[in-house]
Amino acid sequence: MLDADFFRRWMTATAASVAREAGRLTDLDSPIGDADHGANLQRGFTAVTATLEKEAPDTPGAVLVLAGRTLISTVGGASGPLYGTLLRRTGKALGDAAEVSEEEFAVTLRTGVDAVMTLGGAAPGDKTMIDALVPAVDALPDGFAAASAAAEEGAVATTPLQAHKGRASYLGERSIGHQDPGATSASLLIAALQEAAT
Ligand code: ADP
Ligand code: MG
Ligand code: MG
Repeated sequence: MLDADFFRRWMTATAASVAREAGRLTDLDSPIGDADHGANLQRGFTAVTATLEKEAPDTPGAVLVLAGRTLISTVGGASGPLYGTLLRRTGKALGDAAEVSEEEFAVTLRTGVDAVMTLGGAAPGDKTMIDALVPAVDALPDGFAAASAAAEEGAVATTPLQAHKGRASYLGERSIGHQDPGATSASLLIAALQEAAT
């Protein structure tokens, strides 16, 4: 079973990984964006860990709703409202249980990913974070390691795609040949689940 501490560790592990990889995320956002993705997420997840420490929500759902709300209010770029919606909607779907099973989490995370697709209008293949998140939720019933591998694969597979959403889409065919920064950060988020579990 997964409790509030697990979800807190997920957010802390994501913050650490985003801080470690911020330079790389910003480098990926240079050729096909505005070179701020690493800084955007580092600011957002630093705020998330601080808020979680201060307010100490005591259910899985409350942890994710607070984390999502914090991302929405601290990240100016497109990724803030999108990741914020992912966590907030997943958290809402978890309800107010003190513990949730991995199966339940897999179902609710899909609800969150669906909400991101509705908000941003992106589908798989549009070269966005969705290209890592959808394979991850598909693989999640097989465990965190499988989800993490699927997300990483999905992020790498964005390289030959042309972007159809977000800033990168302004480049048209010139967006081809670059890995999507948001798909890359999504793979960090999913990989952090494994860290939180150990
Ligand atoms: P901005 O583009 O506003 O500077 P970021 O650099 O923080 O925001 O985030 C860019 C990432 O956000 C992209 O690499 C992409 O993965 C994701 N993204 C942008 N628009 C969308 C969308 N409509 N749907 C899903 N993901 C999106
Ligand atoms: Mg950007
Ligand atoms: Mg920006």
